[in-house]
Amino acid sequence: MKRVATIWCEGCSGCHMSMLDMDERLVDLIQKGLVFDASPFTDLKTPSEQVDIGIIEGSVATDTQEKEVKMMRERCKVIVAIGDCAVFGGVPTMRNKYSTEEVLKRAYSDAETNYNKNIPSSEDISKLLEKVKPVDEVVKVDYYIPGCPPSADAIYEVLSKLLEDKQPELKGKLLSYE
Ligand code: SF4
Repeated sequence: MKRVATIWCEGCSGCHMSMLDMDERLVDLIQKGLVFDASPFTDLKTPSEQVDIGIIEGSVATDTQEKEVKMMRERCKVIVAIGDCAVFGGVPTMRNKYSTEEVLKRAYSDAETNYNKNIPSSEDISKLLEKVKPVDEVVKVDYYIPGCPPSADAIYEVLSKLLEDKQPELKGKLLSYE
């Protein structure tokens, strides 16, 4: 049995959708021993103390995401960055040429539909990091699955090899940079 936890940081959930696109091959992976731990699929929020494979979608853009990614690294034997946002930073890094103050001002104070012009502020709201970062600027990553989103075939290849304690290798049409 191998426990697999997944989290979704600064991403659009497209990479998790691509995991679901494995369709009946998910059953095959479960028969090979995959058990989902914390994940948007299980709605469990905190990974168990000992997880075999941690999959991270999305880049790291807030203090909460930074803590979650570090917890995944502490608790997962292997970390897989899935999708261009997690691997390179991706679309969310478009805000990196602006300061967080400029970003918040444009999103709230200057937003045409925000009539009171307030920027929400509470200790319960995550703080933006100065820069959006790919996962490996925060923790060590063991495997990368690029693509936006990566294909279900690429995800299946990596997971099925890891479940068999083999080295995954993406090549040909499984290796996609977009
Ligand atoms: S890599 Fe693409 S599909 Fe995945 S979270 Fe980022 S934008 Fe969405």
